[in-house]
Amino acid sequence: MVQFNILLIGFLLVFAFRSLFQLALNRLNVSHLRKHGKHVPRIFQGAVDEEKLAKISAYTADSSNFGIVVTMFDQAVLLAILLAGFLPWLSETVNHWHPGFIVQGLVFFAVLAVISNLLQIPFGLYSTFVIEERYGFNTRTLRLWFSDWIKGIAVSAVLSGVLLLLLLALLNYVRNTWWLWAWIAIGAFELILLWAYPVVIAPLFNKFEPIGNEELRDRIVSLMKRAGLQVRGVFQMDAGKRSKHTNAYFTGIGRTKRIVLFDTLLASHPEEEIMSVLAHEAGHWRKKHVLKQLIVMEILSLIGLYLVAKLLNWPFLYQTFGFTEPVAYVGLVLVGALISPLSYFLRPIGSAISRRFEREADDAAVTLMGTAKPMSDALIRLAAENLANLVPHPLYAWYYYSHPPPVERIARLQQMEGGGA
Ligand SMILES: [Zn+2]
Repeated sequence: MVQFNILLIGFLLVFAFRSLFQLALNRLNVSHLRKHGKHVPRIFQGAVDEEKLAKISAYTADSSNFGIVVTMFDQAVLLAILLAGFLPWLSETVNHWHPGFIVQGLVFFAVLAVISNLLQIPFGLYSTFVIEERYGFNTRTLRLWFSDWIKGIAVSAVLSGVLLLLLLALLNYVRNTWWLWAWIAIGAFELILLWAYPVVIAPLFNKFEPIGNEELRDRIVSLMKRAGLQVRGVFQMDAGKRSKHTNAYFTGIGRTKRIVLFDTLLASHPEEEIMSVLAHEAGHWRKKHVLKQLIVMEILSLIGLYLVAKLLNWPFLYQTFGFTEPVAYVGLVLVGALISPLSYFLRPIGSAISRRFEREADDAAVTLMGTAKPMSDALIRLAAENLANLVPHPLYAWYYYSHPPPVERIARLQQMEGGGA
């Protein structure tokens, strides 16, 4: 039986506070949009008309309301699983056949993964075929959706299966310092994944081919040379078979480092704007943002694993959630559940760092291009195409936004252009 002690009550209070906070922030953002979303911001005049603005507002409200419903549902399911004694029951049932610690752990996590994946189906379908469809973004067929779903599960089953196997083996055989070895193993695993993603995983979902426009390719290659970046190829991806959203990204490390452009971006933006988008991405590399993020993540993960290792030996934790004795793999789930509401409150720190990096990459792009005009044109077009919210509530943007809000970001670029940057 679950025990209503100080730990559980504290956890429930923090959990409930987070849910209320999320609901309130969402409410604030949507009502801010209703109040201030009726006039096209000066910067977007000419690019966005009244009709488009109404569409942006409706899309923002629909997708954020849907997002909050999904979040609340997930939290309710987690609470139900924790409080109804499902975990002790599952652990006992798995234990019944005495398959040994590692197999027990794998089966335990597999059951939780199956439940979570099944519960996600209706939300995934609704997001694609109702919301994205309503605003003209969706190009996916039902068949493609299900094949994506199955492939996604297969990939994550293999990847998380390997990682979990490693973790369970360490927990089983290296009792005291497992967390240090796990940190090294996870780090190595992430590096391999970074390298393998563009050549092994991404091709399972999309076709990649060198971009056909040779003139554009030459311009991109020479831009990357000027930025001091070694890139092993410029590819276009058939993103249009899923959605009309536009994007471009850098991926891979070492020999697999490459640029990927969505075919939807190539079709809708002039070359100059595409160049500026890539100059921005190159700016991230020049400023070593990827490396800095990686180092910060590794430090945080070392601290996190150390804390997990400490909490895993705490009998009170297991008693609270209805276990008669500590089971390390269950402990991983319990500690995860305890940490997640707390980590939510640290989110503004990550968002602020990310926005700072984005501004630095914009600056580097302007230096590289010698002008800010194509970049601000590109951002205006991107925001309009993707129906980005033009008037987020400042608190909401501060809390969640990884990029400066479009109006602020574009105004900054236009000022640089005006100032002769
Ligand atoms: Zn960026």
